[in-house]
Amino acid sequence: MAEFAADSILVLLDVVPGGELAKSAAGLLGAASQVGTPVALIVGDDADRLAVDAAALGAATVLTATPDAAVLSVPVVDALVSAAELVRPDAVLVSHSVEGREVAGRFAARTRSGVLVDVVGVSRDDEGIVGQHSVYGGAYNVQGAVTFGAPVISVRQGAVDARAAAVTSPAVEPLAVTASGRPAASVDAVDAIVETSSRPELRGAGKVVSGGRGLGSQEKFVLVEQLADTLGAAIGASRAAVDAGYVPYSYQVGQTGVSVSPQLYVALGISGAIQHKAGMQTAKTIVAINKDGDAPIFEIADFGVVGDVFTVVPRLIAALEAAKGK
Ligand code: FAD
Repeated sequence: MAEFAADSILVLLDVVPGGELAKSAAGLLGAASQVGTPVALIVGDDADRLAVDAAALGAATVLTATPDAAVLSVPVVDALVSAAELVRPDAVLVSHSVEGREVAGRFAARTRSGVLVDVVGVSRDDEGIVGQHSVYGGAYNVQGAVTFGAPVISVRQGAVDARAAAVTSPAVEPLAVTASGRPAASVDAVDAIVETSSRPELRGAGKVVSGGRGLGSQEKFVLVEQLADTLGAAIGASRAAVDAGYVPYSYQVGQTGVSVSPQLYVALGISGAIQHKAGMQTAKTIVAINKDGDAPIFEIADFGVVGDVFTVVPRLIAALEAAKGK
């Protein structure tokens, strides 16, 4: 049986429906490596194969468990409880994904731990692991810690740039999971929806181009798509654009939508209301194009163009295409 370091950080890695590790894995293991020794837990059918991918992202030890695929969440929580009993970690990191959040809450309730939600960074002080949060629409950064036990920390996707060194020969260990028998939702039938878009998924995307009410109509929103495709970016939108029916709700970035932390965020015709900023202010580089020079988005933009998107963006696309051709 693998030995676990005293500073172990247990990291639950999401497995996406295609059977691969979620993109969040790299940032989670990178964050764990900044404060301790990452121990990955993979709950999935093909966990042994995925363990190799986890090692390449810095997991020296990988625990694997095969769940009952027809039961939601509870088998993952059972596996996490068994893993935590084995590893005795200083903290448990999960992705701030829909599943990660549910597992974090259930796990913390069962183990009587405290949860730090939607952190954008982790550190360690004399008393243990500390989480950094970006709050009030990104206006303040605050630190949070729990006062007893190992904190359960959900990490915002894309927020952590640190990467752990690859491990060539990881210790991969099947985990003995004690089934809790807790009530759980089960899946009766699955309809696979074929994803036709070649664009990256909004959550966890490295680049995002978002459009707001300034685009004016669903037809004109195609400008956002054109720039996104030129940059290889995911598409986002403000709530006003979603409410106007330009794009579906799943594109909404902000307080009541998706939180993103890409390397590049381009805001087109978005004023920069605090509720929108809440979901994108931790982007590494923010570019705003807006015809109103006083729009609040310029307060947080690294680069801004005061101008009409329908004039500026086609020129930008042409310049990007020309640069690609060189
Ligand atoms: P507007 O504020 O109308 O701004 C449009 C901008 O486009 C303007 O700045 C204008 O100058 C510019 N513009 C117009 N035409 C052009 C052009 N041709 N070229 C260039 N610029 C142009 N909002 C979110 O985005 N996400 C959320 O999650 C969210 N949650 C909310 C939760 C609550 C409880 C509440 C109360 C609100 C929430 N909102 C959210 C709404 C938020 O307050 C704003 O209303 C919304 O973000 C505005 O969207 P917008 O910037 O596209 O539109």
